[in-house]
Amino acid sequence: MLGVGTPLQRACAATAAAGLDALLISPGADLRYLTGYDAHPLERLTCLVVPATGEPFLVVPALERPAAEVVPGLDVELVSYGETDDAYALVAERLPGATRVAVDNHMWAEKLLAFRRALPGADPSLAGEVLADLRMRKSPDEVESLRRAGAAIDEVHRRMGEWLRPGRTEREVAADIADAIVAAGHATAEFVIVGSGPNGASPHHDVSDRTIEPGDPVVVDIGGRMADGYCSDCTRTYAVGEPPAEFAAYYDVLLRAQRAQTEAVRPGVTAHDLDAIGRDIITEAGYGEYFIHRTGHGIGLEVHEEPYIVAGSDRPLEPGMAFSVEPGIYLPGRHGARIEDIVVCTEDGGERLNLADRDLVIL
Ligand code: ZN
Ligand code: ZN
Repeated sequence: MLGVGTPLQRACAATAAAGLDALLISPGADLRYLTGYDAHPLERLTCLVVPATGEPFLVVPALERPAAEVVPGLDVELVSYGETDDAYALVAERLPGATRVAVDNHMWAEKLLAFRRALPGADPSLAGEVLADLRMRKSPDEVESLRRAGAAIDEVHRRMGEWLRPGRTEREVAADIADAIVAAGHATAEFVIVGSGPNGASPHHDVSDRTIEPGDPVVVDIGGRMADGYCSDCTRTYAVGEPPAEFAAYYDVLLRAQRAQTEAVRPGVTAHDLDAIGRDIITEAGYGEYFIHRTGHGIGLEVHEEPYIVAGSDRPLEPGMAFSVEPGIYLPGRHGARIEDIVVCTEDGGERLNLADRDLVIL
């Protein structure tokens, strides 16, 4: 449901279409998407109320009103409250008789429970069921934001030879990478995974004090957030010196799988099928049991969001969807490899937003 209008206007329409009375949106990616407001999640209630009928409004603590007032393009009524006021009652008073409300998926439990007390007739559901449909279909401006983020992280990968070498620890390398992520134009470094040797076999390894040794394969999965909120996420696997022969063999399989998957992106292909295209290649080569995660995740104002590229999902790809294609092969106790690009589905196929060399780079 792309429709017309601003994200907030479309969210109002989607709220009505879902048969809900209102969405209650606390600080996070949903709030930023709908209003541009990058509010800090704190103990006091900040909450955008998106009613099915009538005008949306933003409840803010009085001390944060000045910050909200200067958000560029913020076009909703601000309702502020004092330190001793009951902000939840304030919301409830303005939603008389509401029985069907949905809260954003990441609302703090203490706020959800306070809303349950303030709106005793309502049994809250998840606003993500309404908003994911909007957020996963990126506008041309959002795609441009992701393109800029992709170019910035590519720049960091292209500099990897400056930092990645034997004798340095993963932690030392990661610190240099984090600085470079900001230097390349991101506002913040969001994550830096440097998995050397056996640590590369753990897909969500962070960093450690392990010293990188000659011949180590090293998985480097990094991402940052641009000032406008959009995220980058890109993995390359490097070899520091000549890698073991068994590694080179499965890296080639992985490269073929990742290429086949990115080339298969087009409207109508399901998430399940896209996952299977890579998984089948890896399985046929004998490494199926070592590809232990889904193919990818959507990306936008969050690093992980809908659509998930996973077996069993019959969701068809649509123009504007942006997601990672990141198959991996992980040999426990030995080493691993992953290749990850962000791809946008267009009318004609997939556009890769990450262009750094995918052939095995030996540093
Ligand atoms: Zn990643
Ligand atoms: Zn990813």
